[in-house]
Amino acid sequence: MSVAANLAWVRQRMDAAARRAGRDPASVRLVAVSKTRPPDDLRQAMAAGQMIFGENYVQELQAKAAAMGAGPRWHFIGALQSNKARLVAQLAEVVHSVDRPKLAAALGRQAQELGKELGVLVQVSLAGETQKAGCAAAETPALCQMIAATPGLRLLGLMTMPPFFDEPERARPIFAELRRLARRLAADLPPGAMNELSMGMSGDFEVAIEEGATLARVGTDIFGRRG
Ligand SMILES: *Cc1c(COP(=O)(O)O)cnc(C)c1O
Repeated sequence: MSVAANLAWVRQRMDAAARRAGRDPASVRLVAVSKTRPPDDLRQAMAAGQMIFGENYVQELQAKAAAMGAGPRWHFIGALQSNKARLVAQLAEVVHSVDRPKLAAALGRQAQELGKELGVLVQVSLAGETQKAGCAAAETPALCQMIAATPGLRLLGLMTMPPFFDEPERARPIFAELRRLARRLAADLPPGAMNELSMGMSGDFEVAIEEGATLARVGTDIFGRRG
């Protein structure tokens, strides 16, 4: 299958999942996760109308951004060290993986110096997760307040990455929990600060959209299995 055909199939399943939940399909955006993929794969996706790409590694993002020039809109979704904050602030439009105050402060400082506003999602580690990455739910309110008050950053919402389940339904409670957490946090944050929920990957994006995802991060179903 071609990248264009895969994309069409993913978008069709996204739209159907949104409709099943009574949601407007236009309220869900696709982040094409392009880690390890060569620029040519991304160009094929762009030719099919896909402009938002998710990258996990700073050096790879840097190389691809240089190779591809203007056009792609980069979302950074991987583990990030504060000392790489400048490059990411420069290249990315949104960072999905902010999980601690030090990283938020570094990104804010760099974004401010660059005269831009960087979109930020707080990555939350919810109960039952084995992932090391992510802010504990209990620490999320303070981190969100800090980000909302940091010049250079614009808080957009929350992200989570459940452990891999063979059965996507098992991720549903985790997605629902993230949605409820965002709703609780929104009450004490500026308007719009909890509008986005980044959740769902190839194995479970339909369930995530049924539970409120506004950003689905899909790699394998678009580009094929990684090597
Ligand atoms: C790799 C990755 C994805 C995409 O995973 P697929 O299973 O290939 O769709 C999504 N989110 C994050 C954070 C990732 O690292």
